Amino acid sequence: MKKKEFKAESKKLMDLMINSIYTNKEIFLREIISNASDALDKLHYESLTNKKLKIDPKKLEILVKVDKDNKKLIISDNGIGMSKDELENNLGTIAKSGSLDFKENNEHKKDIDIIGQFGVGFYSAFMVASKVEVISKSYGSDDAYSWVSEGIDGYSIEKSSRDDYGTDIILTIKDGEDYEKYLEDYEIQSLIKKYSNYITYPIKMDVTHSHLKEGSKDEYETVTHEEVINDLIPLWKRNKKDIKDEEYNTFYSDKFFDYETPISRIHTSAEGTIEYNSLLFIPSHASYDYYTKEYEKGLQLYSNGVLIMEKCPDLIPDYLSFIKGVVDSPDLPLNISRETIQQNRILATIAKSIENKILKELEDLRDNKREDYIKFFTAFGMQIKFGVYADYGMNKDKLKDLIMFYSSNDKKLITLKEYSDRVKKDQKVIYYACGESVDKVDLIPQVDAVKNKGYEVLYCTDYVDEFAIKMLNKYNDLELKNVCDQDIDLDSEEEKEELKKKNDDSKKMFDLMKEAIPEVKEIRFTNKLKNHPVCLSTIGPVSVEMEKAMNAIPNDQNIKAEKILEINENHGIVKKLESLYKKDKDALKNYAKVLYAQSLLIEGLSIENPTEISNLIADIMAK
Ligand code: ADP
Repeated sequence: MKKKEFKAESKKLMDLMINSIYTNKEIFLREIISNASDALDKLHYESLTNKKLKIDPKKLEILVKVDKDNKKLIISDNGIGMSKDELENNLGTIAKSGSLDFKENNEHKKDIDIIGQFGVGFYSAFMVASKVEVISKSYGSDDAYSWVSEGIDGYSIEKSSRDDYGTDIILTIKDGEDYEKYLEDYEIQSLIKKYSNYITYPIKMDVTHSHLKEGSKDEYETVTHEEVINDLIPLWKRNKKDIKDEEYNTFYSDKFFDYETPISRIHTSAEGTIEYNSLLFIPSHASYDYYTKEYEKGLQLYSNGVLIMEKCPDLIPDYLSFIKGVVDSPDLPLNISRETIQQNRILATIAKSIENKILKELEDLRDNKREDYIKFFTAFGMQIKFGVYADYGMNKDKLKDLIMFYSSNDKKLITLKEYSDRVKKDQKVIYYACGESVDKVDLIPQVDAVKNKGYEVLYCTDYVDEFAIKMLNKYNDLELKNVCDQDIDLDSEEEKEELKKKNDDSKKMFDLMKEAIPEVKEIRFTNKLKNHPVCLSTIGPVSVEMEKAMNAIPNDQNIKAEKILEINENHGIVKKLESLYKKDKDALKNYAKVLYAQSLLIEGLSIENPTEISNLIADIMAK
């Protein structure tokens, strides 16, 4: 018999499994049973959609057998089975190579992380078994094959025999104290209960009880009979009141490969015109791929317990794409296809009702479990803010009270409602400022100015923030306004009058300066800066932060904010500028260039001509 080598990736994963220090070795059983359940699902589904197959769904089952004498644990199913090619392709290589790539790129992460983060699948058997044998007969085929492997060296496939279609997984349990328990009936039963209770097919096992012999006082006899170990009814169909937290959490981690407890779960059963059960989870953190293109949103869709789609995207709007869960409705046709799903009215109704439930749950967290909400918002707030802005703001009213920003007053995240509830008398504006981080926003001169007048400022530190804010435009009657906007108005009438006069008087000087920096729309004095000499304001819809965000997107046009250079009217530089205007107009122009460059740097923008600016500064210093 010819031994074949595993594909390189599979080898690495097997190596990881065999030498795993992972304490949770017991999950191998869950993985194998879940594969068996998938195989039964496939056959069940076939039989329901193809009436020619004569399958009795009641006979679909999983059998677990312990053969202590030969140190074997056997898991059998009468599911779809595997052909020779399928044995080769499914077990000779690893399907989820993504998890391995991830591990490679994160060498500093311990093995434990990858096992925790992903379903580990079939190969986890090697954590407890020295030899793994798979005997399988594909449904509709006459031939059975066996696949055998003793680990990293490789595997071989041979013709074999099996009475009927289905698969046996035969594990030879490793020697040693740590492994003996996997040959104990009791241990195996409790693992099935712990990890696989919700499986919708019966998991049967021979169970031995001993009891007093009839008519005897001290003589015992042992009786062995087959028992169904699991509860069979899927968790989502059971009564909420009877389900323990632990069961929900196991179900969640098992199904969605996330070993952190979710922030919330929403378990509902709807009756009426459309009947459905749903069990939804809000994860407590974003998965490693959540913010990548590879991430696929969607809920598992069942029709009366039969899985019809692994990830149905139409059940969940994009801004809730982080939700994990299951929807089961007997009203859905089994043969619903990907194409017809979009037009399905039942599905649309379920989706709407699910959306409302999730939004209500989030509101409840926001109001009653703030710590959890902050955790949620830190992980997924970006998605909600994106939702405000996406689809031309179609959903902004639903979402505006869920978004949060860092407050200059509280030094933590607050909602727009919380801001608006405590605005000063006569305040008509919600002030916000944008920057890469809280620290950087703190350094923006205008933020200081607005705070000094006693106003609260919201800090926008995500690139989507300002797009969402612009889409909202107003919150209730309060206008949302960037502190760097040119028409921010903090002054009394007198102060305004005074400043206007000063600016009018200097118009000629500013015109001259502008010749040196034509990209600036306007130059003027301001009274809002305390110590800083200059700042940059913008006119119109594009702010500096938006300019940065939009230019970070490749292939976009070169979008620029319309900029105003504002000069602190109380700074010593003003006198210097006025004297240069009289004596040395060329020098004045150079000063204009340097001041503008400073204002760009403060805003985190780059200057186009750094050499020129650097030379100019040195020249000025040398004078
Ligand atoms: P995953 O189940 O995540 O795809 P696994 O490594 O657990 O990855 O299994 C690999 C593949 O082997 C499965 O996708 C399935 O096609 C096949 N397989 C495993 N166990 C069985 C089984 N009991 N019956 C039929 N096919 C199986």
